[in-house]
Amino acid sequence: MEAFDYLEPRSLSEALTALGNGKRSLMLAGGTDVIVQLREGRRECDQLIDLKHIPELMSYRITGDGSLEIGAAVPLAELYEDPEVRRRFPALVDAATIIGGIAIQSRASLGGNLCNASPAADSSPALMALGARLVIVAPSGNREVAVEEFFTGPGRSALQPGELLLQVKIPAPAANFGAFYHRFIPRNEMDIAVASAGASLTLDGSGRIQAARVALGAVAATPIMVPAAASALIGKEPNTDAFAAAGAAAAAAAAPIDDMRGGIAQRKHLSKVLTVRALEGALQRIRGNR
Ligand SMILES: Cc1cc2nc3c(=O)[nH]c(=O)nc-3n(C[C@H](O)[C@H](O)[C@H](O)COP(=O)(O)OP(=O)(O)OC[C@H]3O[C@@H](n4cnc5c(N)ncnc54)[C@H](O)[C@@H]3O)c2cc1C
Repeated sequence: MEAFDYLEPRSLSEALTALGNGKRSLMLAGGTDVIVQLREGRRECDQLIDLKHIPELMSYRITGDGSLEIGAAVPLAELYEDPEVRRRFPALVDAATIIGGIAIQSRASLGGNLCNASPAADSSPALMALGARLVIVAPSGNREVAVEEFFTGPGRSALQPGELLLQVKIPAPAANFGAFYHRFIPRNEMDIAVASAGASLTLDGSGRIQAARVALGAVAATPIMVPAAASALIGKEPNTDAFAAAGAAAAAAAAPIDDMRGGIAQRKHLSKVLTVRALEGALQRIRGNR
């Protein structure tokens, strides 16, 4: 590993000052991606800025209106061990509990998972299905982006030099809202998604689909939203035909590559199957069965 400076800012303003000093910086949250990449020579930096001593990045809260605001460096286990987070945001827990194993989850953060910007990252489609927004902090002030606008390519995000991710904001679930995330891996655990899908549904008073969000992971250069799947669902009864149409739209939107984990045809097929099952999972959650 190349030598670098290790910085331990105690406040956001200290971190931003360090980020603006002209040196090549990387952030350290849980370190479960960045330390591996530095060791293997896949990333280089002059300074590693440890975010774990900045209170805003290490805390989360359910606000008065029921939304969830999560500091970017909060360990995943801290989130899913909270019974209220588990009860209100089960799709977030779907993702948080499958990222690595317990040792990884006790260090790894949502911020690190998003900023590493892997197309196969598990939190991304789950947060996209949940309609999450990201708060980015820069010396000139804060800005917000929808999570689906954050990814610009494999390993690349909308973060500009001098910026860092402050917070993930998940809106309060509406009445008759359910969301679900899952992935396909060839083993039971500790593997990266071959393909993944997150979906959410909101039903109106008559039981028809009022709003829907479908997102896929590991089947394109970034995680992707599938607006055609949502269009196939809105106004319909939440039944097999509607879900099959959304699954077909997801398969059509997937633009995967062949690699050691899976092939193009397999990933397109998985996009369909995982989307249908994610929608079934979301519906079961609305009905209180999951
Ligand atoms: C054994 C193992 C299993 C894994 N399994 C999975 C898996 O199943 N699914 C999955 O999705 N991932 C998996 N990962 C990858 C990794 O654990 C996750 O991506 C994790 O969420 C990264 O979070 P972290 O806090 O450790 O990030 P770090 O390693 O600390 O940071 C990752 C990147 O994000 C940047 N960064 C971090 N926080 C911020 C911030 N607030 N603002 C700006 N930039 C920031 C860092 O500079 C770095 O480039 C696995 C890793 C290992 C080692």
